[in-house]
Amino acid sequence: MQKLRSMLKQIDGKSYKAYKSIQGTYQYDHFKFSIDYVQGDPFASPSKIRVHIPFKKRPIQSHWRNNRHRKIYAEDLIARHVAKAIRRQNIQIRGSGKSGMISIDEPGQEILDRTAVSIYQKETIICLSIGLPANGRRINGREAEKLFFTAIPDIIDQSIFTVQDEEIEKAVQLADQHQSIRMKMRENGWIAFIADGSILPRESGISNRPLKGAVPFKSPEENRVSIEIPHQNKPLTGMALKKGIVLIVGGGYHGKSTLLNAIERGVYHHIRGDGREFVLTDPTAVKVRAEDGRKVSTVNISPFINHLPHGEDTVQFSTENASGSTSQAANVMEALEAGARTLLIDEDTSATNFMIRDERMQELVVKEKEPITPFIDKVRQMKDDFDVSTILVMGGSGDYFDAADEVIMMDQYIPYNVTNRAKEIAEKYPFKREKEGGDHFGRLPERRFLPQSLNSRKGKKSKVQAKGLSKILMGKHEIDLTQVEQLVDVSQTRMIAEILHHMEHKNWLEKGLSLPELLDRIEEQLDTSGLASFTPRPDEHPGDLARPRRFEITAALNRIRIARVKELS
Ligand code: ADP
Ligand code: MG
Repeated sequence: MQKLRSMLKQIDGKSYKAYKSIQGTYQYDHFKFSIDYVQGDPFASPSKIRVHIPFKKRPIQSHWRNNRHRKIYAEDLIARHVAKAIRRQNIQIRGSGKSGMISIDEPGQEILDRTAVSIYQKETIICLSIGLPANGRRINGREAEKLFFTAIPDIIDQSIFTVQDEEIEKAVQLADQHQSIRMKMRENGWIAFIADGSILPRESGISNRPLKGAVPFKSPEENRVSIEIPHQNKPLTGMALKKGIVLIVGGGYHGKSTLLNAIERGVYHHIRGDGREFVLTDPTAVKVRAEDGRKVSTVNISPFINHLPHGEDTVQFSTENASGSTSQAANVMEALEAGARTLLIDEDTSATNFMIRDERMQELVVKEKEPITPFIDKVRQMKDDFDVSTILVMGGSGDYFDAADEVIMMDQYIPYNVTNRAKEIAEKYPFKREKEGGDHFGRLPERRFLPQSLNSRKGKKSKVQAKGLSKILMGKHEIDLTQVEQLVDVSQTRMIAEILHHMEHKNWLEKGLSLPELLDRIEEQLDTSGLASFTPRPDEHPGDLARPRRFEITAALNRIRIARVKELS
């Protein structure tokens, strides 16, 4: 600590580059910190430091960390406290550019495995980004002293040292509750659970916080289940959706998409107070939508699309510019390939001709002239052949009544189970349309990405970098993830970028693994060695990363425009 103080005095007023000399580790009274990376100038991306707090100074009880889920929730809580302390702290540190900036990768509404805070065997590590102070490009040593000796210690004192044990206890209890609900879902074959009283709508299109004054969720009687969960006397009640085909209907603006969105996000866990903390979905559920313009690389879309006008192959279908229906078909097939057991579809984001084709249209445009077999003819086969369920929002057509196992109607934001009524109506107006597309679903894609798919070269440099939530720059190429709706945190995007870079450098694509095998390997390394193991220097500040699902990692691979892909069968 004294050494740092004198070094800062020495380099005061010198050119910014001299800051490089403070890289290293410094011992304070109740923690130590490592300066891992020093920015090149006050405007460049900030410096990276790690603060190490030994359990001897701030005990972390073993039952908070002896289980992977509990540990993630404890780390998440500490990260939130650090972020709050940063916001509250009011020491002014002046200078140009990012001088005096302090930040942590603050979690959003989800509780994700992230690198911002990590609890190890004997210590907790907090990762911060800071702006080293300067006037112009000259080091301001006095302001730097304030940063290192007042501001940062203050933030550490006001966060990990002040957070009450009871609060950490409550956080890990939520982890237990979530895991217990997930276990019951597996045992009972439920693909979604939405607790009574949940608040589903969000504040606005750009905010993930709960809408104030919203109508609380209330399960239909037919779907209501009651489950015992740990750390709570009262059982939890709510709507369970069983495996199968679930149709969500209702008038426009009655809350259908809001319900589906909450289900989409239920693959993640949310903090208490989010309103969706007890909305949980099959973790392998994938939202599937139309995404015209996307690249498709050698995907078997033949269960849905055949006999294209120019005779293009749809068993190994590739395009630089997919249409609404072909993109949605590719999205379905890729989700199945990666192991999705539930598909989520909203009419709002679907291609109409992919979803339905009625009797009149069948008569006018004969089957030989229509390449598309609509989803309606495939949804039951998908369940029968592969045990894949679908939850589908469809307010605009009753065609799906026959296919559905359950029909839920949203009426003024309240769901009703109208299955029987829908079945009666289906009987009263029987289908005259022909079933299309054969008796079976058809084969799933089995692909392998070839090594040239990953190329991070850009001039002399090699770079894979997230640009916000929905873009990754890989060398000279851009990967567009705008329509990948279950990618929710920019730190997940950064993690995907790290994974791509790592796979390229370690030649993972040369091992001949199929895509699912590749995804298994990534997940295995994430499980056993952690997120930082994918970064170039795992023992340093790993950057601000959060764990994505395998489906979002595949989504990035599938959207690489230079991808070279081989169908295996
Ligand atoms: P639909 O898909 O049926 O057309 P949406 O789900 O898009 O309807 O919802 C329409 C509007 O109603 C949205 O602005 C949404 O935020 C709001 N909304 C949805 N659910 C609720 C609720 N439970 N309480 C209050 N407002 C809600
Ligand atoms: Mg809608």
